[in-house]
Amino acid sequence: MAHVLDADLRRALANRLRYYHELGIYDFYRRERQATESDASASAAEESAVPSPSQPELQEEMSTRRSAVVAATLEESIFDVLTPKPEQDVTDPAAALKLIREDLGDCTRCKLHKQGRKQIVFGVGNPRAELMFVGEGPGADEDAQGEPFVGRAGQLLNNMIKAMGLRRAEVYIANVVKCRPPGNRTPERDECETCSPFLMRQIAVIKPKVVVALGAVAAKNLLSFNAPMAELRGRFYDFMPAGARSNDPSWQGARLAVPYHPAFLLRDPRQKGEAWKDLQMVMKYLGSTVSSAKLGQT
Ligand code: SF4
Repeated sequence: MAHVLDADLRRALANRLRYYHELGIYDFYRRERQATESDASASAAEESAVPSPSQPELQEEMSTRRSAVVAATLEESIFDVLTPKPEQDVTDPAAALKLIREDLGDCTRCKLHKQGRKQIVFGVGNPRAELMFVGEGPGADEDAQGEPFVGRAGQLLNNMIKAMGLRRAEVYIANVVKCRPPGNRTPERDECETCSPFLMRQIAVIKPKVVVALGAVAAKNLLSFNAPMAELRGRFYDFMPAGARSNDPSWQGARLAVPYHPAFLLRDPRQKGEAWKDLQMVMKYLGSTVSSAKLGQT
């Protein structure tokens, strides 16, 4: 029997498939599950239409692909996105963020919880911010203090915010993953996939006008596609977090910009001028006046 997918599920599925196609993964298999009474009444034709990984002729092929793992993640992430959330009908963003934090709890959902984190770094700032910055993940200083961007890169981010004519307390700052990856490595895909739904929920309740994805890793996870920084930066993208209501009259989504990550700018200060151009683009959109303090002089 054919199943009709609702619009939100189709949209989430299409976005997720696009993401996997960007990663070069094209084949998907349904994960094997326990049979139920209702399954028993399903037609044999439907069962045979979707190959099962337990079929011997498929096992060798499956072992050379990542498709089975992907399929499991695909199902879970899509249905997680569509599950009603505790903050759904809460109009005060500060209260909604508190509910998301409570829902996150002492999270052990991904392996980063057992790889040396001191604490979860949830996010900080104005719950009604027009501008939101998203980084990759906490570093050692952030892990120690429980706040994103408080180390050297954080000081540069503060300077970037100041140069934009804003105070740190006026914006909201968070990361794709909320626990420190060991040795400051890049967060892995499964970690990002598990943690980023909480970031998406934070963005959905803050409803910023602009999201600034700091660097390619943040951009990849927010936009669900892979590209080098040279291609990503210098323009706006339309952004609506996965799971957000598409019919919300109070927010039609944000514009998203992708300047260089402050940590990269510390390693290569020559790129500050390019980052400043991206921030000026954001300021122009927000109607901010250009500060006399240029990023290149900070
Ligand atoms: S990184 Fe996110 S999903 Fe993983 S344990 Fe920490 S809070 Fe949970």
